[in-house]
Formats: sequence, C-alpha cells, structure tokens
Amino acid sequence: MVSKPVYWLLGTLGSLLATPVYSLTIFACEPEWALLAKELAPQAKVIQATHAYQDPHYIEARPSLISAFRRADLAICTGAEMEIGWLPALQQRAGNARLRDGQPAMIYAADAVETIDKQETHFLQTGHIHAQGNPHFQLDPTRFVPVAALISQRLIALDPDNAANHLRQHRAWHSQWLDHIARWENSSQVLKGKRVVVQHSIFDYLIRFTAMEKVADLEPEPGVPPTISHLQKVQQQVSAAPPDGILRAWYQDEKSSQWLAKRIDRPVLDLPASPDPNQAQMSSLAGWFDLIFSRLHALN
Ligand SMILES: [Zn+2]
Repeated sequence: MVSKPVYWLLGTLGSLLATPVYSLTIFACEPEWALLAKELAPQAKVIQATHAYQDPHYIEARPSLISAFRRADLAICTGAEMEIGWLPALQQRAGNARLRDGQPAMIYAADAVETIDKQETHFLQTGHIHAQGNPHFQLDPTRFVPVAALISQRLIALDPDNAANHLRQHRAWHSQWLDHIARWENSSQVLKGKRVVVQHSIFDYLIRFTAMEKVADLEPEPGVPPTISHLQKVQQQVSAAPPDGILRAWYQDEKSSQWLAKRIDRPVLDLPASPDPNQAQMSSLAGWFDLIFSRLHALN
C-alpha cells in the first residue's frame, strides 16, 4: 500500500515532469530578435541588449552587457556586420565559449536570409560597412520566416529535452505569421508606387515589401550624416515631383528630415525600426508591424 506522503510526492513529481522546464537564457542583440525569441521559447529568459531608440550600429560593449553575454546560453544577433562595432568586443570580454562565432548557440539571423545591396569595398572609407549586404532586413516580415526556422533548429539542438515543445511552438508561430504576411501584403497594396525620401538604408526592405519607391537619401553616403549642401541637392532633385513623405527611424536625428519637410511641405513619418516591447502595441512582432503599416497609410 502506498502512503499518503508518497502519493503527494508522486503527484508533485508528475506535475514537475509535465511542465516543460526551460532554463535557457537568451541574449538578443536587437529588440526584434528578443521578441522572436520570446515567441518561439516563451519560458526562456530573454535579455534585450539594445532598444528601439538606439542605432544598433553604434552600441558600447558596456559592463552590464558583458556580464549578460557571459551568462547567456544562446545569442541571437542580426549579423551581416550590423554589430561589427561592438559585438566582437563583447564576445572577447565576456569569454563565453558557447557564444563564439561558429558555435551553434551563436545565431546570426543574416545566415538564414538573403541580403540586398552587397557592397564590396565601396563604402569602406566611411566606416559604415555593409559588405555582407544591407543588414536592416528586420523590416521585411517575410525574412522572419527563415530566421525563425533557424532559431527553432538551434533551440531543438541545444535543448533536446524540450524538442517537442520547441517544434510545436515554431509550427504554431509559423502558420500565424504566414497569415499576418498575407494580411500585410493585402493592406499595403495602396502603398504601391508611393514615393519616399529616407535617411540611410534602414527602410530598403520595407520599401521593397510594399513596392514603394525610394527617390532620395538624406545621407550623402551610407553612414555619413546629411550635410547642408547634400540636403539642398535633395531638395532641388525632388522639388519638381515632391515625394509622398519622408521616412525617419526613431533613433535618427530629426533635424535633416524636418529641414526638408518644411521646404517641400511633405510629412515626416516616424517609424520604429525596431519594436519597443514596453509599449503594449509592440509587445508582439505582429503588433509592431501593424503599427508600422498603419503609420505608412498616412502617405495616402
Ligand atoms: Zn546600416
């Protein structure tokens, strides 16, 4: 006969076994990968290294980031040299053997996607290198599909005890995401052919997704801040056929876009190039894209 305490113990053990135990700590270089990590591994602890008001090209490898990186089991970064100014220093100082390049736990989203505009050496002098193509692909919802598949594969490999859960989570995410993409493709039909001025190549993927047209860049060269002479050139260039609007990322200085907006009497659309999960509307990736597309509709 089994005594009561043993029954109790068996019950507790049973419920422990039934609950998936995730002990993973995931370090995400940018907020979009932090959200994706949470959506694919809801039980994991996710550390978001940068926020939507920071330019992820230029971050400091500060002590709090180093210690977070040291403790992480897995890291998800953009790659394609987006973090070239700070991630190598972080990897070196943290000394986390799991998160060296080439290790399965060091995930670069760029490894899963095709980037656009690969520049060999053209912009090397400016210090802003996009040699592996434009790394701002987080603004293309379709490119999340292969990135999520890569993360899911790695989660399964690194956390095999929970393989079935990871697989189930990814399948559910995938089918929902395809529905969202179809919805966004539909709603952005009206944006087709809209002409926009940008600052830097941040919105290139979004412009492609929506079939808008980039008519000018406020930067004279990638990574080089706008100069007054270049702005005047842009103003001249667009004055005959003014664009529908100017796109600005939250982390960009608003001086240049406002300068042009005033002179050509066109609106500036402030867009979150990365989600801010502290705002309820952007607590999911889909919510973030919903916000971007709804703001773009102001171009109509
Ligand atoms: Zn860039």
